[in-house]
Amino acid sequence: MPGFEIFGDEERNSVLEVLETGVLFRYGFDQARKGRWKAKTFEAELAKRTGADYALLCSSGTAALSITLAACGIGAGDEVIVPPFTFIATVESVLNAGAVPVFSEIDETLCLDPDKLESVLTPRTKAVLPVHICGATARIDEIRDFCEKKGLMLIEDACQSLGASFKGKAVGTFGHAGCFSFDAVKTVTCGEGGGVITNDESIYLKADAYADHGHDHKGNDRGLEGHAILGANFRISELNAAVGCAQLKKLDFILEKQRKHKKAIREAMTQFSEITFRRLPDAEGDSATFLSFFLPDESKARAVSEALAKAGVDGCFYWYDNNWHYLRQWDHLRRFQAGAKLPVQLFDNCPDYSRTNLPKSDSIICRTISMQIKLSWTEQQLSQRIEKIEKVLRNFRHE
Ligand SMILES: *Cc1c(COP(=O)(O)O)cnc(C)c1O
Repeated sequence: MPGFEIFGDEERNSVLEVLETGVLFRYGFDQARKGRWKAKTFEAELAKRTGADYALLCSSGTAALSITLAACGIGAGDEVIVPPFTFIATVESVLNAGAVPVFSEIDETLCLDPDKLESVLTPRTKAVLPVHICGATARIDEIRDFCEKKGLMLIEDACQSLGASFKGKAVGTFGHAGCFSFDAVKTVTCGEGGGVITNDESIYLKADAYADHGHDHKGNDRGLEGHAILGANFRISELNAAVGCAQLKKLDFILEKQRKHKKAIREAMTQFSEITFRRLPDAEGDSATFLSFFLPDESKARAVSEALAKAGVDGCFYWYDNNWHYLRQWDHLRRFQAGAKLPVQLFDNCPDYSRTNLPKSDSIICRTISMQIKLSWTEQQLSQRIEKIEKVLRNFRHE
């Protein structure tokens, strides 16, 4: 999965180009920068790649989510529907906007279940924020249809799924805006970085201004810019953008490698009938950063996960016990209601997260294992890995 596995001269040279000019700031200094605009170049490439009309590069995926929520006018007391299986940043960005995250069930796509959204809808619901988790999409067409029918905003957290698509259309382009992360472990990395894409000019202009203190970026005189809104600082530096520019050029190579590695492992696993695989709404659009599969029940999943680790099959995740990615183990969120001091003000419509109960999501995640797909595996490492996996699973079959 991570682009850092394939750092090379391209990244080094791109960073050196920035250091040679000394201009680390993404705006202005037109003379001194000698035509080198790394953040701008990345934005143009990201827009082209995803087919979006506009792209903004910013300091992180979390920043991208915060910028997007602000640009979409989501704030105080508004409810935003989120999945319980994601990285906590999705939830944090909603809370930091002063809005209220409302959890809804996932299905076997491991993403929000479109059929369950209605059950958490209230008059305060403003947006749905599906997360395309572990490299592949949600049932995004059905989620989009639901949002259109109910007049809700649709913001996609595509932080883990750069390069993924649904029926040929890139993730992040189905609703009002899409967010990406280019942090240190993502498919394409800037070291730290994030991106917002949209086809809506007014959302883009607000996002662009919000990420840089409300400056409208019109004209060359930085002291005399217009300010339609107040903002913050979520800018990226040219050094980070320089790494990203070199990485983004490698995306096709990354996707091809991942898909090939994933296919080989998946094919070897189909001989074990007790294993079923994550539902992919469009298998061809899978970016293949992970292979996710289900065991028949929780105890088997736990046992297989332990056996894989013991056999040296690294990079396997049993999310049910993981305190980064699943609501069940987010004690810091679940304690909120118990009167802990919070960095943000909670509204009276904030649910008591210590009581949030999602039986369907639990029943799926407790049986799920995800295996990271690496770029750097050699043919030999890949076949050795497959042998180890087969051995582990064969032992379970005979139990
Ligand atoms: C990584 C990630 C984020 C946050 O991105 P950062 O760049 O680390 O802030 C948000 N959502 C999901 C699903 C992620 O995986």
